[in-house]
Amino acid sequence: MTTTPVTAPLSNRFATVLPELAVPWRAEQTPDPKVLALNDLLAADLGLDADVLRTPDGVGLLTGTSVPPDATPVAQAYAGHQFGGYSARLGDGRALLMGELVDREGRLRDLHLKGSGRTPFSRGADGFAAVGPMLREYVISEAMHALGVPTTRSLAVVATGRDVRRETILPGAVLARVASSHLRVGTFQYAASTGDVELLRRLADHAIERHHPAAASADNPYRALFEAVVEAQADLIARWMLVGFVHGVMNTDNMTISGETIDYGPCAFIEAYDPGAVFSSIDVGGRYAYGNQAAVAQWNLARFAEALLPLFAQDQDTAVELAMESLGTFASRYAVTHSAGLRAKLGLPIGLEDSIAAKLGEELLDLLHSNHVDWTSGFRALGSAARGDAEPFRGLFVDLKAIDEWLSRWQSVGPDPTAMDRANPVHIPRNHLVEEALDAATAGDLAPFEQLLEIVQRPFEERPGLERYAAPAPEDFGRYTTYCGT
Ligand code: AMP
Ligand code: MG
Repeated sequence: MTTTPVTAPLSNRFATVLPELAVPWRAEQTPDPKVLALNDLLAADLGLDADVLRTPDGVGLLTGTSVPPDATPVAQAYAGHQFGGYSARLGDGRALLMGELVDREGRLRDLHLKGSGRTPFSRGADGFAAVGPMLREYVISEAMHALGVPTTRSLAVVATGRDVRRETILPGAVLARVASSHLRVGTFQYAASTGDVELLRRLADHAIERHHPAAASADNPYRALFEAVVEAQADLIARWMLVGFVHGVMNTDNMTISGETIDYGPCAFIEAYDPGAVFSSIDVGGRYAYGNQAAVAQWNLARFAEALLPLFAQDQDTAVELAMESLGTFASRYAVTHSAGLRAKLGLPIGLEDSIAAKLGEELLDLLHSNHVDWTSGFRALGSAARGDAEPFRGLFVDLKAIDEWLSRWQSVGPDPTAMDRANPVHIPRNHLVEEALDAATAGDLAPFEQLLEIVQRPFEERPGLERYAAPAPEDFGRYTTYCGT
């Protein structure tokens, strides 16, 4: 592999400002690297030339095997509550922050690698990742972006040519991902646990500068930071709910300060609407079930507040009081995004009274649940009903009397079908299609992955010939189970 330095303008802000949280480290060599996916548009956003990224030197940057002269790749330290249990030291066990890039809008973006080899945080694991889970993160994160949900982005997946040992032997890969940062609730938990309040303050100042600059001029900047994160996360989780996304592993180390979705492991999209939907094989208690996500986000934010307490006020009781008050704003912030989103999905006119909108929304959700209606295609079919063709929608229900009664009340408020088509996607990365694409890619055929990616990047477009991609899984696909992306 080449050792020629590449000329990507990578800064090392995190490593310089927070050296206590950054272990300088290098990626493992890649025996036979091959680009499996490369995001040309995102590369352009970052001021990177996609053609250069495809050269051996560029592939070196995407896998961490060649490092620009001024860059300092680091493994980041963080702690976290996993399924409620605290781990004082997690950190990047198979990942590296290569550094930060300035995008075309002047924003700082992290270039981060996943699957780049062991680090001091690997805790006995191998530090690698397999092609399937890395392509999974690529296609789902890009779909989320296209659906308008804040998320880390995927720049590339490069097969390494190394076998990784899981239940079977799998081809290895490195994902190059881009985020507005990798600061997590767990990063603050780690800093707080050192007892070094000045470190915690430096971390908080860095987070304010990068993500929530308005907090800097507030009376209490750290409390303002906390509230900004409460706001960003409340908005994010509401957006997940509106597209039917289940993260699956909402540990505090998987919750960002920026409000971007991060770490696509055992995630999935619901088909039949069910607040109890769980897909992850390890989530036996349903802690991270679809309908629990807002409650879990608040639990995680309470852990964030605990870490920040020393910065809120000198006096502990006052600090706790301020934290509780700010955390209490989650529900109303969540409701703002969720009710606006549901109104849009139902095509309700702006002037319609909130109480009527809320009642129509709640009743429809109950009917979708009791009739096991597919979330995504159900809402899309409702758009046709607004145009006068209710049959495709009615056909999804068993209890016709109840849905007809609901439809007539809904129709009487004058829903707007054009607005509905902008709010209700045709295409999400359906679980069975994702599995099909990843199985093929693992066996060496990238065509189904590329096709699926192309479709989910234009989620609101109904395209003739692609009906199969808009339909729920066939019966024989059975109950869907996901596994942690290790
Ligand atoms: P995740 O479930 O991907 O959010 O990871 C939780 C923690 O386990 C993080 O500290 C990861 O870096 C670490 N981890 C996950 N998979 C591996 C692996 N194959 N090798 C080393 N560390 C890993
Ligand atoms: Mg993680």
